[in-house]
Amino acid sequence: MTESYSTLRVNADRMLASFIHLASIGATGDGGVSRVTFSEAHLAARKWFRAEIESAGLEFRMDGAGNHSALLSCGPADAPTLLLGSHLDSVPNGGRFDGALGVVAALEVLKTIKENRIRLKLNLEAIDFTDEEGTLVGLLGSAALAGRLDPEALKNPRGGRQNLVEGMKRAGLSEEGMLKATRPKNSLAGYLELHIEQGKRSERAGIDIGIVSVIVGIRSYRLSFIGRADHAGSTLMEDRLDAGQGASAFTLAAREIVMRDFPNCVVNVGKMEFSPGAFNIVPALVDVSLEFRAAGEEEFTRLDSTLMKCAEQEARRFGLELKIEFLGTHSPSLMSVNVQNVFADVCNGLGLTNTSLVSGAGHDGQSLAGICPIGMIFVPSVDGASHAPREFTKWEDCVNGANVFLQAALQLAT
Ligand SMILES: [Zn+2]
Repeated sequence: MTESYSTLRVNADRMLASFIHLASIGATGDGGVSRVTFSEAHLAARKWFRAEIESAGLEFRMDGAGNHSALLSCGPADAPTLLLGSHLDSVPNGGRFDGALGVVAALEVLKTIKENRIRLKLNLEAIDFTDEEGTLVGLLGSAALAGRLDPEALKNPRGGRQNLVEGMKRAGLSEEGMLKATRPKNSLAGYLELHIEQGKRSERAGIDIGIVSVIVGIRSYRLSFIGRADHAGSTLMEDRLDAGQGASAFTLAAREIVMRDFPNCVVNVGKMEFSPGAFNIVPALVDVSLEFRAAGEEEFTRLDSTLMKCAEQEARRFGLELKIEFLGTHSPSLMSVNVQNVFADVCNGLGLTNTSLVSGAGHDGQSLAGICPIGMIFVPSVDGASHAPREFTKWEDCVNGANVFLQAALQLAT
């Protein structure tokens, strides 16, 4: 840590005031917020962010993907930019901390560095990425910035094409603009994010700061178990081609497989759709929505083939046909080892306990992995709650996280 800056701290009271104000935008009355992408509340939060940026004397910028940024030119004019950010959108009836804490902390870091008139080797940018939560597309803003936004994802967004078109219109954005929001790779020095853990590991271990080593990869499939519709009363049990049996047997077996052979992975069957879907008809077709996550590429591939083999086996066992539809994948994203070391050094210097953690949830850093060095820290979530109004992190932990964030940014930019 550079001696002259090592005693620098964020202004905790100012950051709290910003956080409280932001939490009032889209507040649901039960401690949570609803700021789904391009909703009125989301646009109001962005307007507030812009005003905060301007009143702090920082430069405001919005790109073609609607990412909102505060720029601090604290380095040479041609120096690359170190991005600090998160997201202001939320899931419906989400919590106050998810994303918001990271944006508020990033802005506070810039304010602190600006008012201390510190000159660095890099320029700094606090960024609010568009649609991290995937109301419409998922990691939309960060993918666009990284040049990884698939035009197909805009044509067939998971939130529905009509919703995307209307939302873009409300936000004054266009498809062409989104696809042109790519930043030159050499303009980015790195990306850092402070986020709540959304799990119980650091709280359980009594650890102040989680240093993320990898964001897990995620893959999804639709599996169709195809049997034959028959009279549910007059068809003998042994004569049935019951798609429901195959789909259910697979779901139970997938859990067993992961718990026994892939202890670091998770699998989820989030939806099963039965057709024709009646009390008195043997199910002819069941569509299964399958998603699984792994931290390592090798393990990911092995889990994939094991699950597909299992689905085929269970289909065969019940005399069914199986149709496998691949829906998409994100590879596991490794955090920069250098940035992890910097975070650990900074935590030790500040007297904060820290540990390496795998992020089971997706984050914008995934979009930037491989483009520039990325790093993430987690602060403890009380009871692991997230995506719910009871989401909570002690303010002291938020401030600790912001100070680690500040010191790490200084160290990486010096
Ligand atoms: Zn988040």
